[in-house]
Amino acid sequence: MTTQTLAPIPQEAPPIPVDVTREQIIDHLMDGKGDSLEPGGSRSVVHQGDAEMPLPLVQVVESAGHVILYDTESFEPSIFNKNMVPGIMRLKRPDGKYQWTQTCPGLPQRGSMKCLLHPDQPEREQYTRMGLGVCRKRNIPTQFQLTQHMKTFHPGAFATLEDERQRREREEDRKLQRDLIKAATTREKRTRAK
Ligand SMILES: [Zn+2]
Repeated sequence: MTTQTLAPIPQEAPPIPVDVTREQIIDHLMDGKGDSLEPGGSRSVVHQGDAEMPLPLVQVVESAGHVILYDTESFEPSIFNKNMVPGIMRLKRPDGKYQWTQTCPGLPQRGSMKCLLHPDQPEREQYTRMGLGVCRKRNIPTQFQLTQHMKTFHPGAFATLEDERQRREREEDRKLQRDLIKAATTREKRTRAK
């Protein structure tokens, strides 16, 4: 993240161009070329790469109607339904960077944090009772990305756990208040008894 993105645009700067390249990529991913492929999946090089686009643009179609996109930060691949691609490809992070790319950016940056819905989490039994699903993702690099993962892939569970956390906090506050009152009352009684 840089402060540059927050700096005001100088008056003489040309207007920000529409992101033609990204829209063209979306068009390409959506143009139905994948639909004619064998259901077994296929890999096709759609751009060999040049000075402008140094990496070859490889479109991997796992099966008709699905496209693999890569997280631009963790480099993790995910399979999306084709109809989700335009929305997903336009998603940006708070720093203005695109969240997903169609070209493999490199080896995934493996972390060791587990999804909150992972079977190994200590709260797992409770989560099952709450009706929350299971997720086996266990290579999340940072707390920030864990939160992003929860928001993106388990929005319902994320909201439930947030509610639960707030409820617990309120309960703890109330208990603290009760304890304080109790302590004050006891003190008062003792003072009177003297
Ligand atoms: Zn998960």
